[in-house]
Amino acid sequence: MRKKIVAGNWKMNKNLAETGELLSNLKAKLGKVSEAEVIVAPTFTNLYRATEELKSSSVKVAAQNMHQAENGAYTGEISADMLKSIDVNTVILGHSERRAYFGETDELLSQKVNTALNHGMTIIFCFGEELQDRKSNNHFAVVESQLKNGLFHIDTSQWKNIILAYEPVWAIGTGETASPEQAQEMHAFIRSTIVKAYNETIANDVSILYGGSVKPNNAEEIFAKPDVDGGLIGGASLDVESFSAIVSAI
Ligand code: PEP
Repeated sequence: MRKKIVAGNWKMNKNLAETGELLSNLKAKLGKVSEAEVIVAPTFTNLYRATEELKSSSVKVAAQNMHQAENGAYTGEISADMLKSIDVNTVILGHSERRAYFGETDELLSQKVNTALNHGMTIIFCFGEELQDRKSNNHFAVVESQLKNGLFHIDTSQWKNIILAYEPVWAIGTGETASPEQAQEMHAFIRSTIVKAYNETIANDVSILYGGSVKPNNAEEIFAKPDVDGGLIGGASLDVESFSAIVSAI
């Protein structure tokens, strides 16, 4: 069943003390405003603190990344089992910053997808075109190929563990948002691509989040579009007032 979801990607921000403060403020604030499912993704070192702090809350905790292997000689990496052992059952995969700065390809992401699903995790699968793709009217083809190559190998039964996040790269952290119409157009295209590869039920049931400079002043009109089921929020998720304002815009 399609859900309304607002997820905050905290990226490489907030030390332990700052994380604790943001979490307790969020808990106090979101108890009152939240109709959506709310997910926060602190950095690795603060995940345990987050799951402990949010035990009694409906806010879920996600990791920002994980490695595809089960374990072994992968210095600096974190496995699905490690995440699950601290009650982190959701992971963001394919964020454009991982693709751009850490060389994550569709092929690698398809392996990470398999590992996360084998562990019963929920995946927030991110994808989106760059500015030159949109300028050359290639944005639909880019999005379709990211989905086909990174995700569309999964079984029908595994879609219940998938949340999609369409994030046009030109709108991330730039202050430039896709218009509500551009977001709706792409989200409808994504659903039609899923219908072709799978079926109507899967296309209708999957939540598709929009990400890219969502702020309290634009969230409502973006979330009002019929194929937009919420947002993946970067910068504005670091402030309790703006994040809770976005959550209440759903
Ligand atoms: C993101 O990084 O996923 C994101 C959407 O960032 P921002 O909201 O800051 O554009």
